Amino acid sequence: MNLGLSEEQAAVRQLARDFVEREIAPHVVAWDRAEEVDRGIVKKLGDVGFLGLTIDEEYGGSGGDHLAYCLVTEELGRGDSSVRGIVSVSLGLVAKTIAAWGSEEQKRRWLPGLTAGEYVGCFGLTEPGTGSDAGSLTTRAVRDGDEYVLNGTKMFITNGTWADVVLLFARSTDAPGHKGVSAFLIPADTPGLTRRTLHGKLGLRGQATAELVLQDVRVPASALVGAEGKGFNVAMSALAKGRMSVAAGCVGIAQAALDAAVAYAGEREQFGTPIAHHQLVQELLSDIAVDVDAARLLTWRVADLIDRGEPFAVESSKAKLFASEAAVRAANNALQVFGGYGYIDEYPVGKLLRDARVMTLYEGTSQIQKLLIGRALTGVSAF
Ligand code: FAD
Repeated sequence: MNLGLSEEQAAVRQLARDFVEREIAPHVVAWDRAEEVDRGIVKKLGDVGFLGLTIDEEYGGSGGDHLAYCLVTEELGRGDSSVRGIVSVSLGLVAKTIAAWGSEEQKRRWLPGLTAGEYVGCFGLTEPGTGSDAGSLTTRAVRDGDEYVLNGTKMFITNGTWADVVLLFARSTDAPGHKGVSAFLIPADTPGLTRRTLHGKLGLRGQATAELVLQDVRVPASALVGAEGKGFNVAMSALAKGRMSVAAGCVGIAQAALDAAVAYAGEREQFGTPIAHHQLVQELLSDIAVDVDAARLLTWRVADLIDRGEPFAVESSKAKLFASEAAVRAANNALQVFGGYGYIDEYPVGKLLRDARVMTLYEGTSQIQKLLIGRALTGVSAF
């Protein structure tokens, strides 16, 4: 097994590190306090090719394999999870889904703009009353001639108020459960679609998380992504890859926590010596380091499986489950190393902890990942 990086992969990672250093790091605290990342960052991400990774050049993509995608995602997560999330959704959940499931017309209409960072995409699955049990969603799409008319509300939608295009899931037939769900691509300026930013988030404060309300929104039948009634498969296949991206972002958080904690432990003196000399501080640091490595290896395995065309969904759940819990632990341990200074936002670890916390909730909570893994182990669906 070769766990090293190719020259190309190492170069992409360095490019991402330099990008974070130059374009993100100087603004992280201000964006977090202002509850908004500078939107100009999206075009910059597009210009450097990070929004086109794994997408064919024919559609404006920058190619690359899934490990390269993980490396970039990790570096962005190390810099600012709000920015990482913009990429994980606009590229990971929307552009990659259009590339995999979209018609030729949809690919030509949306992919060049999304990969260039001229458009932002969002993924509308969750509703106010439907979270983990996404298959029971209630947003309706009713066929009317050559169009569908959509009504309903979507909740917690990342990039929601920024998005130019919404990949939206709605019930379009009377088939029971998730079998009646279809996927649609809806331009965000379609009449009847209104959006409201949700303020006061614990973490990912720079991201435009929104509620979307659809009132008699009309789209042509050509807006369907995949076949009618296959929308839940579209959503689940997007999330299977998406969970790898969340896991990679978590590796970035844990690595940032480790870097910050090791540096601080070398500088801060108590009891007449740098705190790094105290064994219990070394225990905190070594716990973080093991979490970083284990999370990274699980995540890279998913990328490797995808690139080799092997089944990866269960491994992606394992990586997301472990990496998200590890990121919370790592950030919390790092905060302990910082003592009281960790509790104010002039130091980075408090934000890392706030940003990490949501990773155990979205794209399937930790409990839902365990049920997915349990179902694969036993053949029994215990949802
Ligand atoms: P619930 O489903 O109500 O769960 C509450 C609790 O019950 C959890 O602990 C859960 O694990 C547990 N639970 C539920 N069912 C079971 C079960 N069968 N067995 C055991 N335990 C169970 N959604 C999108 O569609 N697009 C996005 O872009 C998006 N971005 C998000 C961004 C943020 C910042 C946040 C907070 C959420 C985002 N979400 C998004 C929504 C997210 O995916 C949901 O919050 C998540 O799926 C959980 O749903 P819920 O919040 O309704 O919790």
